Amino acid sequence: MIKKITKIGVLTSGGDSPGMNAAIRAVVRTGIYHGLEVFGIRHGYQGMLDDDIIKMEGQSVANIIQRGGTILKTARCMEFMTHEGRKKAFENLKKRGIQGLVIIGGDGSFKGAQTFSNEFDIPCIGLPGTIDKDIAGTDFTIGFDTAVNTAVEAIDKVRDTADAHDRLFIIEVMGRDAGYIALHSGIATGAENILIPERKTNPEEIIASLQEKKKRKKLVNLIIVAEGDEFGGANELSNYIKKEIPELETRVCILGHIQRGGSPSCLDRVIASRMGYHAVECLIEGKYNVFVGIVNNKMHYTPLNEAVKKKQKINEEWMNIVKILAT
Ligand code: ADP
Repeated sequence: MIKKITKIGVLTSGGDSPGMNAAIRAVVRTGIYHGLEVFGIRHGYQGMLDDDIIKMEGQSVANIIQRGGTILKTARCMEFMTHEGRKKAFENLKKRGIQGLVIIGGDGSFKGAQTFSNEFDIPCIGLPGTIDKDIAGTDFTIGFDTAVNTAVEAIDKVRDTADAHDRLFIIEVMGRDAGYIALHSGIATGAENILIPERKTNPEEIIASLQEKKKRKKLVNLIIVAEGDEFGGANELSNYIKKEIPELETRVCILGHIQRGGSPSCLDRVIASRMGYHAVECLIEGKYNVFVGIVNNKMHYTPLNEAVKKKQKINEEWMNIVKILAT
């Protein structure tokens, strides 16, 4: 049966991503439009445990659509992994009469939401907020487009110096379990090779390709490595190449946290606004315990318990494109 929901909470959880603020704004303003009371829960699930909960008004989310990070802050919360922790969190929601939640985060946060909802019968709606784009059931995640554009801008700059000195640059981008930032930024910057966690790395093949290009005097080479590649990060690959081809001038550049920050791109602001709007509609219409995605430019709803089981697959054709275009 659909419960009449009058009070909802919104939180950001796990790793931050640009566009989370646009999503918070959309949830708050859509909720208020429908006559709901909206509460902001600070520091992710930790705020539910600590009762760090604030009433949100339309004005509370003014002037944030263009800002990176999250005004509600985010956190990882070990106590929420325990039943006792989640019970404490539920008591705080009950005290305020909060009947539904919108959770903006990655698959870990969705796991927490699913468990919480099963235990306490509180409807939860997920919004995919992660720069890694590692969630199946959506073509976009909030933050990926900004992060990958930041990576591309930085890699273009590195390419200038690689070109000036005829050097090989190995650039490490974010992605502990997913290679999407590496794959997209690598194709967009004309990388010679891209190493991602989803595929086994063949170091001999990399050496053979570099040797062959050296023979042809193709000297500017960029290799993009996702931080979670099983061969190791950029430093490990650089050491290996230096050992195999000592005469090749090789440098490493680790892009790091710049990829998480900054003003969200137009795409991230738009998808965050659409997803936030539809999250509230889900709570009102009784479409519970799903995450809101976009597939083929249409809203797409995946049950939270399915979302946590599936990973987005890498399209093998893309790897082939990298190889052909880098010749
Ligand atoms: P992300 O959401 O970015 O994937 P994490 O994996 O760190 O980030 O998850 C964020 C938070 O979600 C965790 O700190 C924890 O509070 C909660 N969480 C993750 N997995 C579970 C789980 N299996 N059960 C309960 N809570 C979880």
